[in-house]
Amino acid sequence: MNRLTARGTAVAALAGLALTLAAALPAQAADSTVTEAQWLSDVAAVTGPAQTYVDSRAAANTSGAKQAIVLDIDNTSLASYFEGGYPTPATAPVLALAKDAHAKGVSVFFVSARTNLIDVATKYNLTNVGYTVDGLYTRTLIDIASESVADFKTSQRKAIEANGYDIIANIGNNTTDLTGGYADTTYKLPDYDGLLD
Ligand SMILES: [Mg+2]
Repeated sequence: MNRLTARGTAVAALAGLALTLAAALPAQAADSTVTEAQWLSDVAAVTGPAQTYVDSRAAANTSGAKQAIVLDIDNTSLASYFEGGYPTPATAPVLALAKDAHAKGVSVFFVSARTNLIDVATKYNLTNVGYTVDGLYTRTLIDIASESVADFKTSQRKAIEANGYDIIANIGNNTTDLTGGYADTTYKLPDYDGLLD
């Protein structure tokens, strides 16, 4: 292979790699230019498989075990970044997933880094936009001062499972929603490199 051919091959390989990366990472590459329509499309790409999984787990639950899903609130259950306001509108694909889960006997628990000082407002918001709130777990001032968001959220899931529930799926838009275990599976919604908290 002469030098020109080798260079051409290398350029072609790099172009191929770039195309592969672009196809694999459309959401993460979108950054702050992402539109609400793109966000909802990216969310639905995750909630679709999540719903299929929840449905299959619920159908297989012939023993009547207590099943649950855990949802983050901001930029997961509610469109906090793209819509905001109060009450903040639901994220439609996540609301559809929650309604489907609830209809199949799966409890829906909300675990959030929000302060418990606004629990009444938070619960009203979730209910007003269509969610059934089987449980709301938010941070006391002591929680906020004493542990990380990830550790808080993990401790709440641990408590939910200690109450006899099997958390079959945990859905959130940040890794701090999802690390630490106490869920059979996790589903990561987009955060666009921290744009959506
Ligand atoms: Mg969030």
